[in-house]
Amino acid sequence: MTQLELARKGTITPQMLAVAKNERLDPGFIRQGVADGTIVIPANFNHKGLAPCGIGKGLRTKVNANIGTSSDYVDVNIELEKLKVAIEAGADAVMDLSTGGDIPSIRREILAHSPVCIGTVPIYQAGIKAIRHHGAIVKLSADDIFDVIEEQARDGVDFVTVHCGVTQSAIARLKQQGRMTDIVSRGGAFLIGWILHNERENPLFEQYDRLLEIALKYDVTLSLGDGMRPGCISDATDRSQIEELVTLGELVDRARKAGVQVMVEGPGHVPIDQIEANVKLQKSLCKGAPFYVLGPLVTDIGAGYDHITGAIGGAIAAAAGTDFLCYVTPSEHLGLPDLEDVREGVIASRIAAHAGDIVKGVQGAIEWDREMSRARKRLDWESQVKLSLNPERAKQVHARHSSSGVACSMCGDFCAMKVVEEALHVNVPAAKC
Ligand code: SF4
Repeated sequence: MTQLELARKGTITPQMLAVAKNERLDPGFIRQGVADGTIVIPANFNHKGLAPCGIGKGLRTKVNANIGTSSDYVDVNIELEKLKVAIEAGADAVMDLSTGGDIPSIRREILAHSPVCIGTVPIYQAGIKAIRHHGAIVKLSADDIFDVIEEQARDGVDFVTVHCGVTQSAIARLKQQGRMTDIVSRGGAFLIGWILHNERENPLFEQYDRLLEIALKYDVTLSLGDGMRPGCISDATDRSQIEELVTLGELVDRARKAGVQVMVEGPGHVPIDQIEANVKLQKSLCKGAPFYVLGPLVTDIGAGYDHITGAIGGAIAAAAGTDFLCYVTPSEHLGLPDLEDVREGVIASRIAAHAGDIVKGVQGAIEWDREMSRARKRLDWESQVKLSLNPERAKQVHARHSSSGVACSMCGDFCAMKVVEEALHVNVPAAKC
């Protein structure tokens, strides 16, 4: 039985217990959240060695890192290194988005080495297989798509992005409305090409029950993808995006009814003043299903620094109730990320997630900041380093320009903390919070 089915029966599973322990919450709260569908625990029966992670209401905002080969760069060892770096930097989940080389064997290696939950976008493998065997994605059959989904589920993939909301109707609306950057989702683009060429409905929508059967069999969490997501801020919150979201809300109902765990993906590129509305709309239309946002990037001009544009949007989205952030790396829009990009991307997203958690009142979030503030007041450099998101980096930066005194080299002898404590002999009491 899936986590959802067990939760509904009143069972607290070992996975729910592990999530409760990590989050320092009552196991009953986790069970109730899973039963209601506001929390998911992506945990495929076949993913050995998985440390379960909960995503959803009342929990710490989670961070996903995308890794994977491309048609230009295929080296499984580098992808395994990226997996290691992402986990070391604190990623809660990793998606294998490989599109180059032997995709199944790369995925199996990643799964075998990953204690965090692994997600994929099965249409990539299906589409690339069709190109290799039949010369074009449009030659894919519905069976090809479902065969790949079943293969990935059997391998132990914990969650799959499935663009079920890319329908003929959504495409017609997109064409009628027009857009600056049309479609930027790879999976969405594959499916739109297929739908238009074959003049048929999206098999993931038309045969959604078939998808539910596979998900139920292995307890794969569905991550309903946003194939119509805006690829620039001018396209944000348009009719095609919202039509897809309405469809996804209906599919959430059907997944829950079938006992399948489900979350919903969101944009994309969104100006700051539209982020909260996007989160509220998703929560309302999808009846509280966990929301997984890709960034969102708050401007289109941050090339080389899109981990920052993504983190700004991610913080606002998390504060508004988003549950899961997909990282953005400095390489976004420019090339395949390297190891350092992966590290930077995860840290930037974790800052965004934590900033959101402070506002959400997540257990332990503000206490972490308070501990850091106390260490700053004491000029306790060792504790400050330990409490940093990236202690190694904090240590390096602090040591780069050493100071002869107890303060840091920024203000040296004129350190405000030191002046107040020593020169003015003012005993500032520690805040009681
Ligand atoms: S020297 Fe300046 S920057 Fe450094 S700890 Fe003191 S007040 Fe802060």
